[in-house]
Amino acid sequence: MRLTVIGTGYLGATHAACMAELGHEVVGVDVDADKVAALSAGRVPFHEPGLAELIARHTASGRLCFTTSYEEAGAFGQVHFVCVGTPQRKESGAADLTYVDAAFAAIARHAAKDALLVGKSTVPVGTAARLANACDAEVAWNPEFLREGFAIEDTLRPDRLVFGVESERAETLLREVYAPVLAAGTPLVTADFATAELVKTAANAFLATKISFINAMAEVCEAAGGDVRTLAEALGYDDRIGKKFLRAGVGFGGGCLPKDIRAFAHRAGELGVDLGFLHAVDAINMRRRDRVIELARELCGGGLLGARVAVLGAAFKPDSDDIRDSPALNVAARLDLDGADVTVYDPEAMDNARKAFPLLGYAMSLEEALRGADLVLHLTEWPQFREIDPEWAGSLVCRPRIVDGRGVLDADLWTAAGWRFRALGRSASHRGGVGR
Ligand code: NAD
Repeated sequence: MRLTVIGTGYLGATHAACMAELGHEVVGVDVDADKVAALSAGRVPFHEPGLAELIARHTASGRLCFTTSYEEAGAFGQVHFVCVGTPQRKESGAADLTYVDAAFAAIARHAAKDALLVGKSTVPVGTAARLANACDAEVAWNPEFLREGFAIEDTLRPDRLVFGVESERAETLLREVYAPVLAAGTPLVTADFATAELVKTAANAFLATKISFINAMAEVCEAAGGDVRTLAEALGYDDRIGKKFLRAGVGFGGGCLPKDIRAFAHRAGELGVDLGFLHAVDAINMRRRDRVIELARELCGGGLLGARVAVLGAAFKPDSDDIRDSPALNVAARLDLDGADVTVYDPEAMDNARKAFPLLGYAMSLEEALRGADLVLHLTEWPQFREIDPEWAGSLVCRPRIVDGRGVLDADLWTAAGWRFRALGRSASHRGGVGR
């Protein structure tokens, strides 16, 4: 089939490449001419494992190209996927639909009369119905659940597909687009527009709630002398609860969960439904960042002024260079404001971090970040941070003191190597050795 993908950011570039991989001819459209030029030259302007190779393969095969021209896209595609951003409106927390509305209006103007316009962006419930009324073309909603870092795998082999459709024809076209994925046995849920939109926001609300639940338990463990890692392990054996998303730490960030739960609570409020618990989920999440700063202050004997702090991590999660609402950078920036001498290191997100926080210090390597540090904060769970040898790290720092904000480092190993070790979700009695 001939498809277009409108908006070629994290979601759209992946979707475009994966649709080409499924055998379709695909045109990616973006208003950002630099992004289009980069993608056309096989350069992906963000880090996503395997994506550059996939895009290069399909631009070379002629199955995938990129343009800024809606005219070209409209003339080309039978099905148009809209993947533009839906950022948060600062004042209200609601989703900003400016880009979605502009993209639908532009493609509707240029598309063939029988084209199908498919929304993939995460939107407040009611958006698809509104756009279907506004556009002179058939609309469907096909929410996306991919995780950055696993985006290709999640697109080609998703847990499920959800089609929000109002006609058999729309469903048939979407079945044709995803034929190889469906043939592999992927479950398909077809739904009305409202339900399809809600699946995505409800899924994100659930995941955020699960993370904040265990982080709230971490707060109780800190106060009561418990150990949240052991608690989570024991809870996770109950298959009604499960182990996933049950690791306490500095909390969630990124371009999706924080904005999506705020937009969901806002939209539900407009509909007269009180989802106030999502504000508590949000608050617990933000408190974990405060707690890391408290622990940093404690380990530095109360004062952060002039303390050399190595912040390990800038991306909001490993295998990504996405720094949107990154807990690591949020903590780093706040320590900097408190007078600490902060040095950030991340394997992939340095350029993005530097652009967003130009005044922070940056190291070119893990070793450089650690050298001379008075305190180390482990805030993004990259494998190479998990595998740091505490003896080696101890030989580089000035004072061996570490906060494990991701709850994955082996406290015994670090304390045995002479580190003062603190982690979220454990009381002071679990803090480890006294160190220097
Ligand atoms: P992004 O900011 O990386 O990409 C959005 C792209 O849309 C940008 O390249 C921008 O230039 C382009 N754009 C904006 N207006 C346009 C227009 N009128 N025409 C064409 N292009 C336009 O955002 P993202 O992370 O890819 O997210 C996109 C949507 O997908 C959001 O609603 C997000 O919530 C949802 N989503 C994202 C992920 C993820 O992991 N990133 C996962 C699932 C769903």
